[in-house]
Amino acid sequence: MSGASAPPTSLYDGLVEHGLIIPVGVQGAFGRGAVFELVLARFNALVDEISRDDGARYCVFPPVISRKIIEKLNYMDSFPHLCGAVCSYFGDERGSKGFSQRIAAGEPWGDLLQMTDVVLNPAACYPVYPSFTGVVPDSGHLVTMFNWVFRHEPSPQPTRMQSFRVREFVRVGTPAQVVEWRDMWLQRGLTLLQSLGLDAVSDVASDPFFGRAGKIMAASQAQQQLKFEVLVPVNDGDSPTAVCSFNYHQQYFGSAFDIVLPSGEPASTACLGFGLERIVIALFKTHGFDPARWPGAVRTKLGL
Ligand code: ZN
Repeated sequence: MSGASAPPTSLYDGLVEHGLIIPVGVQGAFGRGAVFELVLARFNALVDEISRDDGARYCVFPPVISRKIIEKLNYMDSFPHLCGAVCSYFGDERGSKGFSQRIAAGEPWGDLLQMTDVVLNPAACYPVYPSFTGVVPDSGHLVTMFNWVFRHEPSPQPTRMQSFRVREFVRVGTPAQVVEWRDMWLQRGLTLLQSLGLDAVSDVASDPFFGRAGKIMAASQAQQQLKFEVLVPVNDGDSPTAVCSFNYHQQYFGSAFDIVLPSGEPASTACLGFGLERIVIALFKTHGFDPARWPGAVRTKLGL
């Protein structure tokens, strides 16, 4: 921040004023400027570096996935409030006149659309599981992905986005293989974020399951310590924000997609994801809006 300019009124305004993010008229869907993208790419490269010797297979999936995947995983029972189903027009030319009439009159037009075969991907790891169907080798599977994720939770807070990128890793194998791997990464994630000057801590967490039944699922998830998060203070006056999560799914995906161990048992899986935009925003919040003024050690680490 230059000494002459008035201090920004909020984190969001500061990010906008410094050209780091670009409002688009919808909450949680801002554009990203060049400096924001540079920091994101450099952080992602650091993740490459610390995982280089792990031998993970890299893949990238588009922002949409097959609707069948979320139907199979009962996603609409647990997270209907976060879903983004893609709809389109299947009718003829005559029927299409309805759009301009309705839109000109300010009337809803969603009922003229029908569901397509795709939904916006709600979790970075979902698209990869169907590719594991079959018998898992003794050493298991390990993949890493760079995927866009959609969650319908518009918010004025810059850290709560509808659309964002996650650097994800997924491990498939025996319970011992996947839990040991997840715990190793929890430590790695903490160390990485702390090395960038972030005040990162880990905690047991749960997913935002929907409704009353969801509260019970969340309590059981926390009680079994299936999910951990790394949290960093970002938003003023708010509790720290989760910037990565580490999840042990037990046999949930193995059973759903017929992924089996050589013994014939369903395979276990675990995943972890770095919320890339949240980490970048945490860096700007912690060190200021101009990376040229960040601490030397942080600049060196990120190659800035
Ligand atoms: Zn995941």
